[in-house]
Amino acid sequence: MGNAIEDRLLELEALAKKLSPPAGERGDVFKEYHSLSERFLEDLEDKNTFQEGISDSDIYTIDGKPESLETTISTIENDLFQKGINAASGGHLGYIPGGGIYMSAIGDYLAAISNAYSGVYYASPGAVEMEHACLNWLKSIFGFPATAVGNLTSGGSIANMIGLASARDYQNILENGIQKSVVYFTEQIHHSVKKSLRILGLHQMIVRIVPMDGENRMDVRQLRDLIQNDIENQLTPSIVIASAGTTDTGAVDPLDAVADIAESFNLWMHVDAAYGGFFILTDTAKEKFKGIERADSLVCDPHKGMFLPYGIGCVLIKNAEAVFESHKVSANYMQDAVDAVLPIDPADVSPELTKHFRAFRMWLPLKTYGIEPFKSALEEKLLLTEYFRENVVDLGFEIGPKPDLSVTYFWYPQPENENDFNQKLMKLCHQDGRVFLSSSKIDNRFVIRLAVLSFRTHKSEIDKTLRMLSDNLEKLI
Ligand SMILES: *Cc1c(COP(=O)(O)O)cnc(C)c1O
Repeated sequence: MGNAIEDRLLELEALAKKLSPPAGERGDVFKEYHSLSERFLEDLEDKNTFQEGISDSDIYTIDGKPESLETTISTIENDLFQKGINAASGGHLGYIPGGGIYMSAIGDYLAAISNAYSGVYYASPGAVEMEHACLNWLKSIFGFPATAVGNLTSGGSIANMIGLASARDYQNILENGIQKSVVYFTEQIHHSVKKSLRILGLHQMIVRIVPMDGENRMDVRQLRDLIQNDIENQLTPSIVIASAGTTDTGAVDPLDAVADIAESFNLWMHVDAAYGGFFILTDTAKEKFKGIERADSLVCDPHKGMFLPYGIGCVLIKNAEAVFESHKVSANYMQDAVDAVLPIDPADVSPELTKHFRAFRMWLPLKTYGIEPFKSALEEKLLLTEYFRENVVDLGFEIGPKPDLSVTYFWYPQPENENDFNQKLMKLCHQDGRVFLSSSKIDNRFVIRLAVLSFRTHKSEIDKTLRMLSDNLEKLI
């Protein structure tokens, strides 16, 4: 009997060990995937950024049987890497481009190899210290106090949700008459904020859309008037959400003035700096962020402005109790942890318990390069946007107001059917694919957007964009 079990165990072990190959086999497979990644990277500069098309679902199907390395690599190289927007390309100038710096890939690799448990301090003190080191550095650049709490999330959406959950609980909105509580933001707010409000049950609040000035920034005089009017009508102004870099127009709301108003009327001030936050590191734009340090909660997205691969956002919150109210399991336990000697567990500041060890991908590049190359890249993005605006006007385009940051919009003027014309031009550019731009509607006008935020976008990519626009314009006029 005993022997039968032992025999079976040996058999199972031999099969299960396929999952932990020996050194030689690891080396072989690593070499193949490493050269695949090198081919991808070496191709980036010359290849188109956008290829419309669909993938063949058959080649992705999992049938439970192993496939040859060659076939798998072919799926990745010939399909995955070929279709849609190449987000690693410097020609990605649509939506808000992402990053993908190499050192982060190494960080992710080591995070996966070690599989350190980064949700709870005692499980991996080093992993949690690494997250706190990232958060402390972020607090320092945004002028937040060391006592603020924070979390490295999967992105800006979850970060917004954690910040707004804290606002909800700090203001006791669910208990104090949600239908009389008011939240204020402009029409340029990112849609993830509206989604968060719904998930959090805050969609029953009264929403006031604050008018904007000519540069798409929140008009603070109108904000004050709206609040005063609401107070006169026995409503409860509770939350104001400012954008530090709107996605469509690259505008930064006047944060210091919003903070004055939030302070005098006891509103929770949340700042969504998911797109623009890291421009605070530049000499050129840092002035525009004055007042961000006065926010109650703040969201930034290292997978945008720090050029890290997708899957890392951040929220910072000054009032720890407010975030623990909903994110920490036990209210009694809460008190200890606030005074605890041990660093705060990331799991207490997030809906996530077990999480991707994402601090590694942020910490490693900062340790390797320091901050200067990031600052220079961000300065470069601001200047490239200016360079583009000057040159696109020479092609006959009209441009939106000077942006605060690195997103701008433009359109080709037409005596009639202007929107149709620009939509056609957008379509031709998408078929062209040399670089990728996206469009939007601003004041009922179809506009083409340029968003410069990829670390691989340099002058040559902007020149390529101008050539692409002019070549396709010729087809229409
Ligand atoms: C991108 C973005 C978000 C959403 O962040 P994700 O990382 O995509 O979840 C929120 N707000 C603004 C201003 C953004 O640009």
